[in-house]
Amino acid sequence: MVSLAVDGRAVEVPPETSILEAARLAGIELPALCYHPALPPDGSCRVCLVEIAGRPGLHAACVSPATAGLEVHTAAPTAEAARRHTLGLLLARYRPGVGRPDNQLLALAARHGLASPSVPRAAGIPVDESNPFIRVDRDACIQCWRCVRACDRLNGVTAIGVFGRGEDAHIGFGLDGTMQASTCEFCGMCEAVCPTDALTLRIRDQGDAAAASRRVATLCSYCGVGCRLTLLVKQDRIVEALPDWSAPANHGLLCVKGRFGWTYVHHPDRLTRPLVRRALLEGAGADFVPTDWDTALDLVARTLVAIRRESGSDALGFLASAKCSNEENYLFQKLARQLFGTNNVDHCARLCHSPTVAALTESLGSGAMTNSMDDIVEHAQSLLVIGCNVTEQHPVFGMRLRRAVKDRGLRIVVADPRRIPIVAEAALHLPLDPGTDIALLRALAHVLIAEGWIDRAFIDARTEGFAALAESVREDTPERAAATTGVPPELVRRAARLLWEHRPGALLFAMGITQHTCGTRNALACSNLQLLLGNLGVPGAGVNPLRGQNNVQGASDVGALPDMLPGYRALTDALARRGFEDAWGIPLPSRPGLTVTELVDGALAGTIRGLYILGENAAMTDPDLGHVRRCLEACEFLVVQEIFPSETARFAHVVLPAAASAEKGGTFTNTERRVQLFTPAVPPPGDARPDWWIIAEIGRRVRRLALGPVPAAPYAGWSHASPADVMEEIAALVPIYGGLSHARLAGASLQWPCPTADHPGTPILHVGRTSRGRARFVPVEGTPPAEEPDAEYPLVLTTGRLLEHYHSGTMTRRVAALDWRVPEGVVEIHPRDAGRFTVRDGGWVRLRSRRGAITVRARVTSGITPGTVFASFHFVEAAANVLTHAALDPVAKIPEYKACAVAIEPA
Ligand code: SF4
Repeated sequence: MVSLAVDGRAVEVPPETSILEAARLAGIELPALCYHPALPPDGSCRVCLVEIAGRPGLHAACVSPATAGLEVHTAAPTAEAARRHTLGLLLARYRPGVGRPDNQLLALAARHGLASPSVPRAAGIPVDESNPFIRVDRDACIQCWRCVRACDRLNGVTAIGVFGRGEDAHIGFGLDGTMQASTCEFCGMCEAVCPTDALTLRIRDQGDAAAASRRVATLCSYCGVGCRLTLLVKQDRIVEALPDWSAPANHGLLCVKGRFGWTYVHHPDRLTRPLVRRALLEGAGADFVPTDWDTALDLVARTLVAIRRESGSDALGFLASAKCSNEENYLFQKLARQLFGTNNVDHCARLCHSPTVAALTESLGSGAMTNSMDDIVEHAQSLLVIGCNVTEQHPVFGMRLRRAVKDRGLRIVVADPRRIPIVAEAALHLPLDPGTDIALLRALAHVLIAEGWIDRAFIDARTEGFAALAESVREDTPERAAATTGVPPELVRRAARLLWEHRPGALLFAMGITQHTCGTRNALACSNLQLLLGNLGVPGAGVNPLRGQNNVQGASDVGALPDMLPGYRALTDALARRGFEDAWGIPLPSRPGLTVTELVDGALAGTIRGLYILGENAAMTDPDLGHVRRCLEACEFLVVQEIFPSETARFAHVVLPAAASAEKGGTFTNTERRVQLFTPAVPPPGDARPDWWIIAEIGRRVRRLALGPVPAAPYAGWSHASPADVMEEIAALVPIYGGLSHARLAGASLQWPCPTADHPGTPILHVGRTSRGRARFVPVEGTPPAEEPDAEYPLVLTTGRLLEHYHSGTMTRRVAALDWRVPEGVVEIHPRDAGRFTVRDGGWVRLRSRRGAITVRARVTSGITPGTVFASFHFVEAAANVLTHAALDPVAKIPEYKACAVAIEPA
């Protein structure tokens, strides 16, 4: 530590602290304008000038290091005079814009007794309102360049630059054009750091923001990064989302969805009353009738109990939600298991990372991301990104990886059929054909072993099965693999050398790996590669499946799975089952239940008579939508609990209106196993209620109807009064969450396993010892996709997500700015295929598979491998899942979303 004195106050600071930061640590609010704690210092505004005893002149505190023994005077008359003079110069060139409540320039001017400027606006500098997110008013710019540094240092996209020199110097976008026409991703970081009204939010009403009476810390409701942010609230309405610079997972960064995507909360389409089909209340009529909660809840409980009595427990199915909290998912699976006696409970992890859990449990003993985003960003020397569009699906993590490339030379290898955005930062791109990941990973393993580029000491000490793996890839030369993958052999050799020479290295994968009929084997092949390289149990390494939705990790953790009890205890484990039986006071079925697609299929077959869907939109997200919609239509009794009238809700018999995450409390677990608390910011609209309340109310009614008195078991009852009560039960029964409570999480987030109240959490898994003892090499063979192209359907369709949209679009399509930015889906096609099928860029095409057809606009791009087309699944007008194939991975039962045969023709 370094000791110095600031204005006579002794202060101790770590080495490499600036004088400005030292002053602030000493409680002295030294003014500054170009300085922002999240940015590297610039020293350009000269507002933070100070005197230092024994040194001549004045010094910019933000760029002057705090060294031992300094005596700093921030309020020396010369410093104050210089500061006033500098502020006067800045004010002389500043023309007020639309105003913002937190204008730091005007606040400083007032503090120094300087009048606000009344300079007329300059002619010829138009305000850039080319987009609905951010207004750019260069007249109000004071050239602090915070926005330029934020775009470069925080997002890494470098859409903003400084153009002109001297008096003409100004910020500009792209090649000095508009924001909209640039590479801007609209993350809003530039606006968040702007100290004036040069950059302002267009969605913000400045008056509302000024009058906001509350700031509520919450979690983004979109992806698995788990960004924490602050909501500004005025009279029970959210008026803005702000970065939280102390947030553990995102360190203040937000993407366009986190910063702007909250407006869906107040959308007029929100469900505000329970809805029941008229026929169920009045004996006839197919339309929905609004009703009260008692009527709706009694009807749901009564009908589900009746179905169980008539047809048995397994005639019921429960689809949990990756968008709901840990507490809600825990209660939901408890409802299925304890009150209805069925393991027919699953959720959309089935459709994204069920192969991950199966594979990594087999090879490592735990199915979650092994490392943390922080340690990968800070310590990885190389990164293999395979089947993972990280900058669009996990945008804030992607931003930080972009920076790691620029800041410390992180080397990235991308394996993907598309030239996804992270390829721009990559050392190598391996453009493999869809569904050929195993061939590529085997070829990489072959080169590593053949060249001796393997960590022998790690393999000997910590693994088993190496000899079998080595034997299995003996013939898998890159040349042989090229016939399958389409990747030039030399690229494979260079990738293997890079991964060996730059360790520790992390491997990131997502649904490009898992959503195949060989998804489980794909994930095993990823694990094999990292074991060969010794990339496990250390910072900057690991096998890292990036989880898609905000709480898909947590929903799995707390047991919304048909074959596992909460905490990943197998149903077949009699001891684990007995623990829950003792706690819940009831015998539990040991036979695994049905998975997502099996439950939906069961509705058409009549084996599933009652289906309760919590916050999921199967009618958009499951494969082969024509079939799914027929199943939902055939379901005898369908309950949908939702915040919007989703495509699935239209098939329901009862619709239960739920609260959005900003309207309730609980915990989410992000992709790196970090459990974070969120609290309500605003009340739900109308009669909408938090999901945990609705589930608990149904639970209480079912217990009364079906089970008689509550048995004498510690957690037999349904008397939870809050999410905190539910977490208490989870902690008591789920060892990996054993040390968690809402009280503890209010102070800090924790990464599981966190078994006891004094355990600090586990940022890195498998340190020193793998969860299963020795890590296991599992040789795997590749198999082609279940449906390959042929003369009739000559192209392979692969599907995925876009930065601006989320899942089935129920939320983001109701955020006007996001829908303006990307109002429709497109199909990407290589120029060679476009020529072959007479498709023109921007033209409408009909995309057909054996299951259906959609009409969609074409984007001709060389960023996709020939023979492959890509479409997203967010858009109901052109839902890619009309086309996808429901063939399943035999182990994890995930459908093959990433490869099916299609034909294309101009529409
Ligand atoms: Fe939300 Fe994910 Fe964007 Fe973070 S990166 S703001 S969690 S969508």
